[in-house]
Amino acid sequence: MGWLTRSRSREPEGGTEDNKPADSEKKVRVPEGLWIKCSLCRQIVYRKEVEKAGKVCPKCNYHFPITVEERIFQLSDPGSYSEFAQNIESVDPLGFTDSIKYTDRLKAAQKKTGLSDAIRIGECSISGKPAVLGVFSFGFMGGSMGSVVGEKVVRAAERSLEKRMPLILVTSSGGARMQEGIFSLMQMARTSAVISRLHHAAVPFFSVLTDPTFGGVTASFAMLGDVILAEPRSLIGFAGPRVIEQTIKQQLPEGFQRAEFLLSHGFLDMVVERGRLKETLSQLMCIFSSSGQQCPSVVSIGEEGGE
Ligand SMILES: [Zn+2]
Repeated sequence: MGWLTRSRSREPEGGTEDNKPADSEKKVRVPEGLWIKCSLCRQIVYRKEVEKAGKVCPKCNYHFPITVEERIFQLSDPGSYSEFAQNIESVDPLGFTDSIKYTDRLKAAQKKTGLSDAIRIGECSISGKPAVLGVFSFGFMGGSMGSVVGEKVVRAAERSLEKRMPLILVTSSGGARMQEGIFSLMQMARTSAVISRLHHAAVPFFSVLTDPTFGGVTASFAMLGDVILAEPRSLIGFAGPRVIEQTIKQQLPEGFQRAEFLLSHGFLDMVVERGRLKETLSQLMCIFSSSGQQCPSVVSIGEEGGE
């Protein structure tokens, strides 16, 4: 492997790199084939090794972006996922056009991802325990929350309420979908309201934040979890770091808006590596269940993913 290692200087860990909105912006193009180049450590790594680790770099623990299908596969028991409300589509309430028509943009995103909108919701079991699982697709218009995403979050929560199953939402989103204007902003209130109904009914909601989670999603349901988890190094915030720097005309601290920074400042409960996410959720579901059964080795809140 040594002959493949590129010895070129790069910014130190947590340096200026942390002040970009997402790794995705300056991401190295990943060539198809046997080898892939890690977006963080820039080393060439064997694709199969990365995939075996759930798309995590074996050299530096960088968590590569994964698709909705891969996420569902990793978290739910084999063959247990049953999607619902899959055919809801946006009606373009504002007749919005920017460089292209919103309806055309939607069609292109649907074709690219095979999804009707930026979230998929379904019932599944996780280590034998039933749950409602919703997963965002960043590939669908940046995982933005319009009326369909809001509706699906509400329906997922209502299904959780009805069946008294924990709700798990895995987010990756740039925020509200500007093409739907006020209709997308309304989803912040709707989704927050339905989560409060879950709280009143004592049905647990676990929010799993992945890289990146921003804007109206962070500012609503994603930060209302009974336990808020994040994958290592995820960028999480409301506005992006560059916007904040330009506004306050100050340099932001190292690691600002990274999951580890937010954990140490009390915004998150846990940073959990992808390989341990299913097991952690299963333990949390056990702890929050009212059956009083013995739960396997209890997770410690505030635990940091190792790097
Ligand atoms: Zn790496």
